[in-house]
Amino acid sequence: MQIFRIKRPALIAAVLAIAAVGLAFPGPVAAAPAQDQALRTVVIDPGHGGLESGAKGKFGNLEKDITLAVSLKLKALIEKDMGFEVVLTRDRDVDVSIENRSAIANNRKAGLFISIHANGSVQRKAGGSETFFLSLNATDEETRRLAYLENNSSALQSRIDPSSDSDLMMILWDMAQNAYIKQSSRLAELVQAELDAMLGTRNRGIKQAPFKILTGVACPAILVEAAFISNPDEEQKLASDAFQTKVAEAIFRGLALFLKRGE
Ligand SMILES: [Zn+2]
Repeated sequence: MQIFRIKRPALIAAVLAIAAVGLAFPGPVAAAPAQDQALRTVVIDPGHGGLESGAKGKFGNLEKDITLAVSLKLKALIEKDMGFEVVLTRDRDVDVSIENRSAIANNRKAGLFISIHANGSVQRKAGGSETFFLSLNATDEETRRLAYLENNSSALQSRIDPSSDSDLMMILWDMAQNAYIKQSSRLAELVQAELDAMLGTRNRGIKQAPFKILTGVACPAILVEAAFISNPDEEQKLASDAFQTKVAEAIFRGLALFLKRGE
């Protein structure tokens, strides 16, 4: 996407820089494309963690705890019923930078990448689930705001990445996900349909947004906002074991349909 807009000298500079950057940052650059490989590994990314709590609900529930709980349930389902290896980008309450999350997926040669989040809005009544795939352009203003929050809420991230290299990194990261946009959009569609069916939450549809976490991943990749932690009703649901299980099951079913159709 962005790659098509940059001028040729910038493109050449970017390509020449790949080797150098690859040495310092082996994640998306050094990873082999997952396209031709049989799916063996699914990477699940519990959003936020450690010092970075993500969105916080009125009753004190933290997004980072909910994302981990849902991710652990989804991992168990996939391992039990699909037999794939499942790698979590974190399995406890620790900080992991956005770069490292993508690097984990690429280094482990992930065939699918699912980032789990809980939504936050200044509008208390906002509710429902949303599934995203990557685009440099956001579907609407609300989506643009959400992507900004998710991209910039990491304290670690802002400490690591203030340099002028960040533009170049974005170009390289775009290259990693660009090859999988179509599959990612299909996966998002199937997962969202299952979330709507199982959760009975309002259908907010699939959306495109410039989520940094998705850009560097070299396989079909989606980001699921399970429900709104900023909505007191949904916060209480999100904190419950039963709802967390439903979210995990819905994502699992979407995943199963995606794999069954051989996409
Ligand atoms: Zn989040």
